[in-house]
Amino acid sequence: MIIVMKPQAAAESIKAVTEYIEHNGLNTHLSQGTEVTIIGIVGDKSRLSTENLVSFKDVDRIVPVTESYKLANRKFHPEPSSVKVGNISIGPGSLNIMAGPCAVESKGQLMEIAHAVKAAGATILRGGAYKPRTSPYSFQGLEEEGLRYMQEAGEETGLATICEVVSREAIEAAVKYVDMIQIGARNMQNFILLKEAGRSGLPVLLKRGLSATVEEWLNAAEYIIAEGNPNVILCERGIRTFETATRNTLDLSAVPVLKEKTHLPVIVDPSHATGVYRYVAPLAKAAVACGADGLMIEVHNDPAHALSDGPQSLTFEKFGRLTEELAPYARLAARSFQGSEE
Ligand code: PEP
Ligand code: MN
Repeated sequence: MIIVMKPQAAAESIKAVTEYIEHNGLNTHLSQGTEVTIIGIVGDKSRLSTENLVSFKDVDRIVPVTESYKLANRKFHPEPSSVKVGNISIGPGSLNIMAGPCAVESKGQLMEIAHAVKAAGATILRGGAYKPRTSPYSFQGLEEEGLRYMQEAGEETGLATICEVVSREAIEAAVKYVDMIQIGARNMQNFILLKEAGRSGLPVLLKRGLSATVEEWLNAAEYIIAEGNPNVILCERGIRTFETATRNTLDLSAVPVLKEKTHLPVIVDPSHATGVYRYVAPLAKAAVACGADGLMIEVHNDPAHALSDGPQSLTFEKFGRLTEELAPYARLAARSFQGSEE
């Protein structure tokens, strides 16, 4: 449940309520808006008497929170959150693009791509060093060497960096080299990994599982936040349906649904959603139009010879054209967007 305090409630009143709840062995989560303060309660609320709570000074009302996720719930935190990645802020008012290769293949390849995506207006460099491939015979990633190249490319271009992690060892390595970690679709319900990500101290991009409901996805986010890490961004990347014309089916309805249910920023990945480079641009524009806080887009210097996900990767030229075309969509959605340097 949440306790909504009266507008301009006194600090002592808020403190008294918080202390009463914590004294009963429950945890509190404070959300202080400009007008109203909300106290969220996490734990077994059967230990609390609501009659006692309503009688506290400056308490306006008590609202039950029926969803199992609490800290990710918009009721706990009515203002949309911003998440800092390096010196970039992802959330309301801005549009950030994470771009780069599916997999880091070599230092030269990554540097070339990093410069190109930066020039076209990306703010975060993506690149996989640990690749969860469908076939065990496919390229599995450069692991720590790949992370090192990510760090070097980030330092050389000024881009923030993100890398997927698939194990505790990968998280321990990633913490040394990159600004943000990604939990991929296949690991969305790997609860041990989610807890480790929550303890990493780095912001986390949580992709939607291939057949996960919004409710399951938000509970996965809750695992990370419950470890003391509120810096979670959700990424819609398509779900499994009967349709085979695209690799997955991009569920754009998830964007407004999530905006209603959670305060966490939401980005969209049209590359993994479609698996086809030709469909990436139209869906990127649609994502911005329906309220996404950012995009993740795969870009490669030579898609025909990419070691992973070539068919969905944009060339530098196509990525440049896309960011130019995105600028008016960002303006209409009232989001600042750095756009291309030219
Ligand atoms: C990726 O971003 O490279 C990736 C593997 O994505 P997903 O987990 O969405 O398939
Ligand atoms: Mn990929």
